[in-house]
Amino acid sequence: MSIHKTRAFVLRSIKFRETSLITSFFTEEFGKLKALSKGVRKEKSTLTAHYEPFAEVEIVFYEKIKSDIHFLSECFLVYFFSKLRRDFEKIGWASYLMELVDAVLPLHEKNTVLFELLSEVLRRMEDNPPSRLACIFELRLLRDIGFFPRLESCIRCGKQEIAGTLNLADGGMVCAACRRYSEDYLPVSMGLIKTIQYLVENESVKGMQLNVSREMEEEIHRLVYRCVRFRYERELFAFRFLREVDLIRQL
Ligand SMILES: [Zn+2]
Repeated sequence: MSIHKTRAFVLRSIKFRETSLITSFFTEEFGKLKALSKGVRKEKSTLTAHYEPFAEVEIVFYEKIKSDIHFLSECFLVYFFSKLRRDFEKIGWASYLMELVDAVLPLHEKNTVLFELLSEVLRRMEDNPPSRLACIFELRLLRDIGFFPRLESCIRCGKQEIAGTLNLADGGMVCAACRRYSEDYLPVSMGLIKTIQYLVENESVKGMQLNVSREMEEEIHRLVYRCVRFRYERELFAFRFLREVDLIRQL
């Protein structure tokens, strides 16, 4: 067993047996990983903050070769985002991003760029409206894992600059000529396509300055969520929370 140290964000912790936890981390050096912390729930409350979603920590873990669950030896709290945690809307968005990373990112694939973007987005969320920042991160996440639908041209004939319909099964836009009546399509406007392209291709500072309506942001969240639900066939708890408190209207 080799031992490693890395920065990480806590994605999710679940109780394991009487006193232990299994935590999913998004780490700087090793991508997403899971680790078992033995006996951690025996100790008093000061430790639990280390295992809360979106806490930034530094972990030391023993890598297990034959198992996906490694052994956590130490976990130091680096930053707790206390300011963010005082706002329930921001908690909702930050929790959603953690759940999204946990759902879609494959284990053990290092992605430093995405890690740094997550760090930047969470820090900015402390002092800025959270929805746009969530758009920026969720779009880049889906693009990075190669799982964002192709929007710039028809996936069947290659025709450029088409607005209209997205076919999730095929993973992209379909022009009117290529459309088959038996298939399910999602309407997507040219404005939405252009906004998504801008947010994906530019630095987040520029993305924050772009004039995007709240409705457009909601459309982006819904589109991302539809893609995730289509691919993974699972609901995200935090997304349901955002809908229930009316931060995103019903799909
Ligand atoms: Zn076509």
